Amino acid sequence: MVTARELEALDAAALLRRGIAAARVGDADDARACLSEVVRREPANGDAWLWLASVEPSPQRKRDHFQRVLALRPGDAEATAGLEQLAERHGAAVLLPDDADEAPHCTWHPDRETRLRCARCARPMCGDCARHHPVGMRCKECARALRSPLYRVGPRQSVGGFAVGFAAAFGVSLLLGAIGVFGLLLAMFAALLIGAPLGDAVSWGAGRKRGRELQVVAAVSLSLGILTAIGVMLSPLRGLPPLSLLPFSPLGPLALLVLGVATAVRRLR
Ligand SMILES: [Zn+2]
Ligand SMILES: [Zn+2]
Repeated sequence: MVTARELEALDAAALLRRGIAAARVGDADDARACLSEVVRREPANGDAWLWLASVEPSPQRKRDHFQRVLALRPGDAEATAGLEQLAERHGAAVLLPDDADEAPHCTWHPDRETRLRCARCARPMCGDCARHHPVGMRCKECARALRSPLYRVGPRQSVGGFAVGFAAAFGVSLLLGAIGVFGLLLAMFAALLIGAPLGDAVSWGAGRKRGRELQVVAAVSLSLGILTAIGVMLSPLRGLPPLSLLPFSPLGPLALLVLGVATAVRRLR
């Protein structure tokens, strides 16, 4: 029998090999221990779920494992055959979901019933644990593990996004300030319209990325750009042409700071 320490020492690939070997020689307990550990570490490992189904005595659990394989690999021939065999042996009712009072519970909140399942690992999850993802709802672990490259922002992209965001916010703020009180009105009524392109500018500067890290870059670069413009307007530079020729007011940029930056940041979700 495999010990807890052995389980811990082996990596997932070795555990899978050992689990399969145990299943082949009919050592169901050993196989179950190894394979359960594999799917705990790698819930999207379809092979491990298939082998686990093969050593699982309970028809309901077998069914769950096969269905999980199908969620991971739609149309999988072995899982389909497994389900057919289950229905033949135990009656078609075994394929129906368990009773309503046995609704699955969230993997992370065992007290919450839920019908949601992760599109990657098929584990049940509650609304709080579900994440929107370009290819359907995912649990929080899979969302983290499989973040699309769209959301991975490297240092170079951060610098690019920062530079473009700072420059754009600085320029827009000077323009808003330069039209004086109209800048305030414009910023109050059109901050949402102005904020969105500022967010796009940061994304563009970062190589068309988005996501939480870029949201931070956007919040910092846009705020600094606006504050720098306000600083210029309040500084002695204000007395020099061409700045002295315009009715500068920092109120427009201030309104943009309060209303527009939030829009820009939201845009990069
Ligand atoms: Zn939950
Ligand atoms: Zn998942």
